[in-house]
Order: sequence, then structure tokens, then C-alpha cells
Amino acid sequence: MSEAAKPAARPTAARGRNTELPEHLKSYKGIWVFVEHDRGHVNPVSWELMGEARKLADKLGVDVSGVVMGGPDETLDAFAKEAYVYGADHCYIMRDPVLKGYRNEPFTKGLTDLVNKYQPEILLLGATTMGRDLAGSVATTLGTGLTADCTELNIDGRALAATRPTFGGSLLCTIMTLAYRPQMATVRPRVMRMPRRDESRTGDIIEMALGMVEIDIVTKLLSFIPDAERNTVNLAYADIIVSGGKGLKNGDNFKLVWELARVLGAEVGATRAAVQAGWAENERQVGQTGKTVRPRLYIAAGISGAIQHRVGMEGSDVIVAINTDPNAPIFDFAHYGIVGNAMQVLPVLTQAFRAHLDKRIRKVA
Ligand SMILES: Cc1cc2nc3c(=O)[nH]c(=O)nc-3n(C[C@H](O)[C@H](O)[C@H](O)COP(=O)(O)OP(=O)(O)OC[C@H]3O[C@@H](n4cnc5c(N)ncnc54)[C@H](O)[C@@H]3O)c2cc1C
Repeated sequence: MSEAAKPAARPTAARGRNTELPEHLKSYKGIWVFVEHDRGHVNPVSWELMGEARKLADKLGVDVSGVVMGGPDETLDAFAKEAYVYGADHCYIMRDPVLKGYRNEPFTKGLTDLVNKYQPEILLLGATTMGRDLAGSVATTLGTGLTADCTELNIDGRALAATRPTFGGSLLCTIMTLAYRPQMATVRPRVMRMPRRDESRTGDIIEMALGMVEIDIVTKLLSFIPDAERNTVNLAYADIIVSGGKGLKNGDNFKLVWELARVLGAEVGATRAAVQAGWAENERQVGQTGKTVRPRLYIAAGISGAIQHRVGMEGSDVIVAINTDPNAPIFDFAHYGIVGNAMQVLPVLTQAFRAHLDKRIRKVA
């Protein structure tokens, strides 16, 4: 919720004029990162945020804390230890049977109570399905500002300057919550770099009880279907991505991207133009209005390298571009460029990788 989206009950702030932090909010200190986990695994976006929180905290001269919530039989202490390794100084742990498996009501109450008691000035969550759901309800309950889906975070004075695409991705806007605390933001997975692990780091744990019982909660968790069983696309954390663009001319040629991806064990990505042409599903779109990716290898076939595509993939370790036009913008930032027809180059690469991988398998056998 931006300043412009504040509820009508606060008319002065709604017009953006109330920019003074009230006296009673000046005690809010420190940066918190909500540690999202599911079935024993922390979502890597939480560690990406921990690294970013560390940088922001060093600018502000404050501490970083992780917030871990879950069931009593979950490995919450292990997650807290990981949080230190990635940069946290403290961890707040809330464990309760009703916190096993995410539900909005108990998580909103728990996180809101923690914030009200320990008063962080900044609270960061991943812009995941869970993070978006929780951040919205916590911000509303606390009556504070939330900038959703950020692509950049900075400190301006003592305020969090949270940048996100707006107007369908055609502009970037920077939003600050000046008169409320905490300042909240969700950040897309893979936008921030994964920080280095520092195994020597440790910290303290602060436990707080939830004070809620099952009968208080309207929503019941009946079953859980993991994404893995739904064959969903996992572009954001793929190690290798083969992406296709409009230069492939038609959906039949786009199958060449799939063939190379299959041999490499890669995910398939696409430009918005290719998605709009119906050659790939929406969730395969890479870029400003699609996914941000950071694979070890990104192969771009028939892609011009427009800025809206570039911002989603330029963090890749190695970019290989195939394009007929030697002046295509993608060659300005690709590590390796092949000037040629993708319909000829892709099958040659597929065959060469298949032969190479077969040889390696035979050697091992
Ligand atoms: C608000 C907004 C948000 C956007 N968000 C996104 C986004 O998230 N992701 C995204 O990708 N785009 C996005 N776009 C669109 C973006 O601006 C470009 O239009 C798009 O990325 C171009 O896709 P393309 O490279 O597939 O197609 P083109 O720009 O048409 O490029 C095709 C390329 O293929 C090359 N080519 C042609 N024939 C061959 C061949 N036989 N072999 C090899 N190369 C060949 C051409 O030289 C050309 O460079 C957005 C645009 C706007 C306005």
C-alpha cells in the first residue's frame, strides 16, 4: 500500500502531506526478514533478502533479525542457524501447532504481535504466494505502508526507498513510507543476489508464544499438493535456461528450444513476444513483467535483447545469444554470441551437447 493508498481515516497522509514520523514510532529499530519455509525447506528468497537486509542495516547502523514461525515439530532452530549464516544477528521464533502449514489468520496474528512488541523499522518478505498474502494482511492490520513486488531497495535518509515497476512495467517508481512503521516491502525471488555463507556467524533467539488455538481459526488445512506434483515451471531457480523469442518465427520452430532444453536438463523460457504469439505459457516469460532469473547458463535464441527482457536475465552467469542480426542489442551484454539462423544453430547445439553428454556417460559406465 503506497502513501496514496492509505485508508480514508487518515486524510492528511492520504494526500501525501503527513511525512513526519510521529514521536511514538521513533523507537522502531532494526530490519526483519520473514523466513518463509515449507515442508522442511526455506524458500531461497528469504536468504536473498537476508543479504539485502544486511546491506541496508549496515547503512542504517542497526541489526538484522530473522522471523521464523512454524509448528513445534518443525526444524525452526535449524532455520534460525541458517539465518545467522546468511547475515542475521537475532532470530524471533514463534512455534505453535496452529502454525504448522501456512494459514493467513494465525501467521498474521503472530507476525503482527511480534512487530508490535519488538518494533522493527523495516520488515521484508519474499514476493511469493505466501509472502504476498501475509504481507498484505499484516500491513493492513498494522495500518502501515507496504510496497509489493520490489525490484530494488535502498536507504534514503532513514527511510526505506522501495522501487517497483508500475503502469504495466513501463515506469519504475520509488515508494517511501514516511509516517508509519514498520516500512514493509515484498521482493521478487532472484532479484537480489544470494549472499555468501559465513559459517562462523551466530546469534541469539527470542521466543514468543502465539496465544491462539485451533478453534479460533476459520480456515482448515485439508490436504497439500506440492508444486512438484503439478509439473509447474521453476524458472526462477533453474540452473540452465534455454529461451526463445520472436526470431523463431512460429510455434513449430519454438520446439527446437524445447529439444535443446531437454538434452541439457534445462527449463524453457520465452520473451513476451513469444508468449503473446502463443508459443509458450505465461509463466515462462522472462523479464520485467515476467520472471527474474539467475541461471548459470542462459541461451537466448531469436531474442533481440530489449530492456524489458534484459532486466529479467542479465544476472545470469553466462549468456549465449543466437541472432541473425550482428547489431542486435543482446550482443551488447551476452558473454558469447553466435550470429546465425537459430533454426540451424539450435539443432546443431542439441546434437553436439547430446553427443558430448553421451560420451561422458559412456566414460563413467
Ligand atoms: C511495459 C512493457 C513490459 C514488457 N515486459 C516484457 C517482459 O517481461 N519480457 C519480455 O521479454 N519482453 C517484455 N516486453 C516486450 C519487449 O519490449 C520486447 O518487445 C520483447 O522482449 C521482444 O521480444 P523478442 O526479442 O522475442 O522479439 P523481437 O524484438 O521481434 O526480436 C526478434 C529477434 O530475433 C532475431 N531474429 C530474426 N530471425 C532470426 C533467426 N532466424 N534466427 C535468430 N535470430 C533471429 C531478430 O534479429 C531480432 O533481434 C515489455 C514491453 C513493455 C512495453
